Amino acid sequence: MAGDFVKIKCPDCSSEQIAFRKAASVVTCHVCGTTLVTPRGGVGLINGEVVEVVG
Ligand SMILES: [Zn+2]
Repeated sequence: MAGDFVKIKCPDCSSEQIAFRKAASVVTCHVCGTTLVTPRGGVGLINGEVVEVVG
């Protein structure tokens, strides 16, 4: 299941955080609350830049 965790750079505050790409619920930035991953019934829609695939 490689590639399920990604490091996403927040488009609003540029902080980076690790998120589960196939999230079942919305993932928000821990700093500013911007939505980073929107669930889409599989691989989520990523809002922001994927900096790194973690694993
Ligand atoms: Zn942010």
